[in-house]
Amino acid sequence: VRKAVIAGNWKMNKTRPEAKALLEELKPMVADVKDVEVVACVPFTNLETALAVTAGTNIKIGAENCHFEKSGAFTGEISADMLAEMGVEYVVLGHSERRQYFAETDETVNKRTKAALEAGLKPIVCVGELLWERECNITEEVIARQIKLDFFGISADDLKKCIIAYEPVWAIGTGKTATADQAEEVCAFIRATLAKLYGADVAETITIQYGGSMNAKNAEELLSKTNVDGGLIGGASLKAADFTTIIKAAV
Ligand code: 13P
Repeated sequence: VRKAVIAGNWKMNKTRPEAKALLEELKPMVADVKDVEVVACVPFTNLETALAVTAGTNIKIGAENCHFEKSGAFTGEISADMLAEMGVEYVVLGHSERRQYFAETDETVNKRTKAALEAGLKPIVCVGELLWERECNITEEVIARQIKLDFFGISADDLKKCIIAYEPVWAIGTGKTATADQAEEVCAFIRATLAKLYGADVAETITIQYGGSMNAKNAEELLSKTNVDGGLIGGASLKAADFTTIIKAAV
């Protein structure tokens, strides 16, 4: 059985007092949730606050990126070890906003994933096609390429520590959700690609999330699909009530 994981990706939102308020509101709302892993991936500046506020609760904390080198002259960057030492558990890697606006490539996503695993973090690796790639009917080629490159040289044991988030770029922050069937089709394709690389037994254990305008209204249908094991939630994770509704839809 795969674990359902609902993760919020706060992106560049919330000051520390705002982060504290949101998590304090969320805590009692999700306290009785048992079968779903609840994660909040927050800006670096909020990590210490988030860890303190959620200590001893069922809310896990993640970062939104990490660098691939262990340390050194990389002004402005944060290493995986720095995150792990704080008690951070998850890290989002290869988000399409990182790929689009900060020139991240599959090669550096692969290096970041390896660095995160080495530090003991659980990577949430994002893949997804652009609108024109879908229109040109190359969604599967794009996804297969990302999976092969992003996980190149990563063992089956390490893959099992990773979550894969399918986030069609055209659905992110646009209000245009993929239909549940579209999400299922690509998540199933991701699992089939993993099965080719690692064997079906390993592929069956990997949690695959959908992300892209998932909200309190559409979550239940998306999460009902066989190969959609969770969600990576942007906008709707900034509202405790909406995020809780999504979490409860995964139970
Ligand atoms: P939205 O839920 O705001 O579309 O963002 C999705 C996303 O990018 C999560 O990583």
